[in-house]
Amino acid sequence: MKSEAQSRRDIVEVCKRIHNRGWISSTDGNVSVRLSRDKILITPTGIHKGYMSERDVIVVDMDGRLIAGSRNPSTEMVLHLTCYRERPDVNSVVHAHPTMCVAFSLAGVSLAKCLLPEVIFTLGSIPTAEYAAPTTVDVAESVRSHIKDFDAVILARHGSVTVGTDVFAAYNTLERMEHVAEITFHARQIGNIKPLTAAQIENLQAIGEKMGWPKKKIITDMCNSCNACGKFSACPTNAEAPLTPAPGLNASVEELIAEEVRAELMKRSS
Ligand SMILES: [Zn+2]
Repeated sequence: MKSEAQSRRDIVEVCKRIHNRGWISSTDGNVSVRLSRDKILITPTGIHKGYMSERDVIVVDMDGRLIAGSRNPSTEMVLHLTCYRERPDVNSVVHAHPTMCVAFSLAGVSLAKCLLPEVIFTLGSIPTAEYAAPTTVDVAESVRSHIKDFDAVILARHGSVTVGTDVFAAYNTLERMEHVAEITFHARQIGNIKPLTAAQIENLQAIGEKMGWPKKKIITDMCNSCNACGKFSACPTNAEAPLTPAPGLNASVEELIAEEVRAELMKRSS
């Protein structure tokens, strides 16, 4: 276990990284580290996390009572405490507002589908917790069932929560999750995306097992709006969030040529 002084430095460093990546703005986001069974270091509320000092970080107990520090704890403290209660194996919780992940949740598109081999190895599925008003205890409740099985969860219309054995592991998971979202965003613009098949996933899990990596849970019983089946809009699971590509996106080559021809004819006739 690292010293408290080192953990304070680590929290400040990770907050700077998250701010530099543009995944929090102003006073958004919060980061915590478990110091002992009953002591949590956590960022305070109402402070810009990109320019915070080690002295600003406070200590609370598992009931959220202030033990050390002069500032008030993060407004999402209950979310952090819930993650520690549900996951005795983790020592850090990071909550941020990663741009692509939040955008996907606003569009009603899940990132739970298995697309990239490294995600099968490291995260498993990336579930989205139901919308809950930020700063309320409902955020913690919406995450509770997911965080038991997953290290990375998207909070609908809000942000992300990632956990790890230390603060850098929790940050790395956030970085990976946002990277997946970014790749998925670009792939969806280029064309329809195909998830890994069940056989490919099984093969990857077998490789992971040989490497001694802990097996990650995969969600298989839901439509994840990847549109790979071509029946997305008919899928009852997604009836409220049909796939509506922006004009010009996903248009076939024939449609694009037809559009150009039409524009050319209009020009000539005018
Ligand atoms: Zn937030």
